[in-house]
Amino acid sequence: MEIIFLGTGGGRVNVTHRFRSTSGFIVRGKKQIYVDPGPGVIEDSKRYGIRLTDIDAIFVSHPHLDHANDMNVLIEAMTYATNKKRGILFGPETLFNPKLEFGVSLSKYHANLLDDYVPLKAGKKVKYEDFQLMATRAKHDNTKGIGFVLEMDGKRIGYTGDTEYFEGLSDQYRNIDLFIINILRAEHKWEGHLDKDSCLKLLKETKPKLAVLTRFGGEYIRTKAEDIAGWLSSKSKVNVLASYDGYVLKL
Ligand SMILES: [Zn+2]
Repeated sequence: MEIIFLGTGGGRVNVTHRFRSTSGFIVRGKKQIYVDPGPGVIEDSKRYGIRLTDIDAIFVSHPHLDHANDMNVLIEAMTYATNKKRGILFGPETLFNPKLEFGVSLSKYHANLLDDYVPLKAGKKVKYEDFQLMATRAKHDNTKGIGFVLEMDGKRIGYTGDTEYFEGLSDQYRNIDLFIINILRAEHKWEGHLDKDSCLKLLKETKPKLAVLTRFGGEYIRTKAEDIAGWLSSKSKVNVLASYDGYVLKL
């Protein structure tokens, strides 16, 4: 199994300036799952030799632009430019209700191109051919955002989505082989997001075999993501790595 990090930036600064891309990552095992397709999906897939027609499923954690902007674009690409109905989309209920006006939602047109789309609430488990997905709770503005615990190819992968720390966050991520953690800012606490101190708490409580940080915001123009990963490793005794655009992690 491998994880391909196409775009590891997050937030408005990266959406508008692209110090890092915001196109998300792909979990490639028996099935290929594209996670959080923010702006840059087509460009970055071409750059790193990804065939989007091989993607089986899409997971969107919440409907903010930096995580979901290219969802409909990706649906067109994975369906052979709309010629072949295929694929499945998982996301929070807020992604499927255009009236909520978060910026991105699934259009009827694009819904019809998919085999299925599945609104998920935290705690809900779904099984789909070769993988099982459990939606986890996130606390991120009013988006009703989610993360996941994914079981595929004998591995358990956790993903926080965008969330701040809250009581019960860690309980959702037990016995995790790889924990993918969004950390928009390290030093500056920011509502709705993890910072290095709350991330440390999460790592100490969950003790994953390996953790990878991603979705770095504008603060990392000055702060080195690798330094934050190193600091977290030494404090938590968990192996913590910082992802970068184009990083491929073999698991
Ligand atoms: Zn967000």
